[in-house]
Amino acid sequence: MARYTGPACRVCRRHGEKLMLKGARCFTPKCSVVQRHNPPGEHGSVVRRKVSEYSLQLKEKQKARHIYGVLERQFRRHLAEAERLPGLSGENLLRILEMRQDNVVYRLGFAESRRQARQLVQHGHITINGRVTDIPSCHVKEGDVIAWKEGSRKTVPYQMAAQEIEGKLIPSWLSLDSGNLSGQVLSAPSRSDIETAIDERLIVAFYSR
Ligand code: SF4
Repeated sequence: MARYTGPACRVCRRHGEKLMLKGARCFTPKCSVVQRHNPPGEHGSVVRRKVSEYSLQLKEKQKARHIYGVLERQFRRHLAEAERLPGLSGENLLRILEMRQDNVVYRLGFAESRRQARQLVQHGHITINGRVTDIPSCHVKEGDVIAWKEGSRKTVPYQMAAQEIEGKLIPSWLSLDSGNLSGQVLSAPSRSDIETAIDERLIVAFYSR
């Protein structure tokens, strides 16, 4: 299944919750979920049908894929890796998703959304430990330093990030040097460090069927 490239708000409306896919707009009253639009394809009053366990699990898996912008094939690969690690597979999966380079760029506040963060990485604006790494799915590890490439510090995305970085909340497992716009991974995040509305147990159950 290919990566979804259609309207982000449509995905949120389909799930009936804010998945924060668009950056600043998600915090404004213009958000489609705030405006309580009906899910795509549904108009007027809706007859609620009983939701099966399978469809709940499928929906949760799709939600996680949309939030992190991950292809089905990659997602399965992340889960397989999570299952090989000690501990709970669901928590391991979330940790792996959080430690993708594109997500860390987003969490550090260098980009408004994960979509934008993925573009920054793919366009070679971001370095890990001083080396340009243009693979969004690349995993960071404890101690890694994530920064803007020197030559990218005159670009519009950098200037915008520098203007908006103050006041952004950074997760406790990352540190940020806001003056230099660089960050460091302090540790792998624990489940309580990961702020997300995803129920990872439903995802594991979906793939265990
Ligand atoms: Fe989702 Fe953001 Fe669009 Fe709201 S504005 S529907 S949270 S993508």
